[in-house]
Amino acid sequence: MSGYRHLLLGVDLSAESAQVVARAKAMRDAFGSELSVIHVIEPLSFAYGGDIPMDFSGIQEEIHKQASTHMASLCEPLAIPESNRHLVVGRPETEIHHIAEEIGADLIVVGSHGRHGLALLMGSTANGVLHGARCDVLAVRVRNGS
Ligand code: AMP
Repeated sequence: MSGYRHLLLGVDLSAESAQVVARAKAMRDAFGSELSVIHVIEPLSFAYGGDIPMDFSGIQEEIHKQASTHMASLCEPLAIPESNRHLVVGRPETEIHHIAEEIGADLIVVGSHGRHGLALLMGSTANGVLHGARCDVLAVRVRNGS
């Protein structure tokens, strides 16, 4: 069996991300693959929609700025070029599938859970990515608190 050519790593930028990043890095080094990273920012309007008549654009901009800084500090030590960093707005599962196809990824790497799935065996995003993916998906077992 041949190895993977292009890995797409999904990060929620939580403390647990480090474990998923470490596994993706090990796979990149073992296979000599290209590595791309994606973080999806969920618009506040998805959660609060029309319920709160408020302009979220300032807060959203600040979230974007912080995520961008966080992505840079994660990607720079791994020597991931800017062209392989994807900071996008939308629903995580949808955008991960979309970027995976756009870049021709043959493996998506996510954590078994992150921010949303602490109490579950497999969190909601990991589950959503697995269903509907057109390539292999690796769910890295994430241990809480490490
Ligand atoms: P969850 O199912 O939401 O607990 O998250 C499981 C895994 O999905 C995380 O460890 C990440 O690898 C990935 N993930 C979750 N949220 C995002 C996001 N906003 N952007 C990119 N990847 C994410």
